[in-house]
Amino acid sequence: MALGIGHWALIINSSPSSPIPTPHSPLPTPHFMDLKSLVRDIPDFPKPGILFRDITTLLRDPEGLRYTIDFLAQKCNEAGITVDYVIGIESRGFIFGSPLAYKVGAGFIPVRKKGKLPAAVHSIEYELEYGMDCLEVHQDGLHQGSRVLIVDDLIATGGTASATAKLVQKIGCELVGFGFIIELRDLEGRKYLPDVPIISLIEY
Ligand code: AMP
Repeated sequence: MALGIGHWALIINSSPSSPIPTPHSPLPTPHFMDLKSLVRDIPDFPKPGILFRDITTLLRDPEGLRYTIDFLAQKCNEAGITVDYVIGIESRGFIFGSPLAYKVGAGFIPVRKKGKLPAAVHSIEYELEYGMDCLEVHQDGLHQGSRVLIVDDLIATGGTASATAKLVQKIGCELVGFGFIIELRDLEGRKYLPDVPIISLIEY
């Protein structure tokens, strides 16, 4: 009987001693990765003069993605951070916050731009370079005393993370730290954040 490629793949994958990683088998976490080399720089995006640090090239790299989450979780652990909820800031904070929450055994809570969350919300307004913006979280998502870690892909001026911190503190949560993949050191965003551990994996 002629066997299709799919059938062969099934036989190979079903061998328990097979050393060949299949698309569904977990990859080992490398001991060290140069994560910066996986971030792509896009000049003049979204407007002239901005050097956009594009993390989609890191996300598409299976080892890079795994290493990023494992490294972030390890750094939280080393900082003695224990968390009830990881708060992800829309939208790239969702991408890193959810797997981190899974890894550290916490829940995940999205903080979104105005009007995106369906149930009753707590909100906070904050200043942008031009004008104001607003972030929201579900009222029944967080409670007084919840231990929360705020996660985003990048900290630049610190405005977004600082507003998120004020939002969760207004609710009475215990802010236990911040986790960023990228930190733009020259902009000194961490200066505007509360005095809790601030973890970043890549610095420019
Ligand atoms: P900030 O509030 O100034 O700290 O800006 C942080 C937010 O803006 C994050 O959600 C980032 O995703 C985004 N952001 C700011 N600057 C950059 C940049 N140079 N490259 C990519 N994303 C950026």
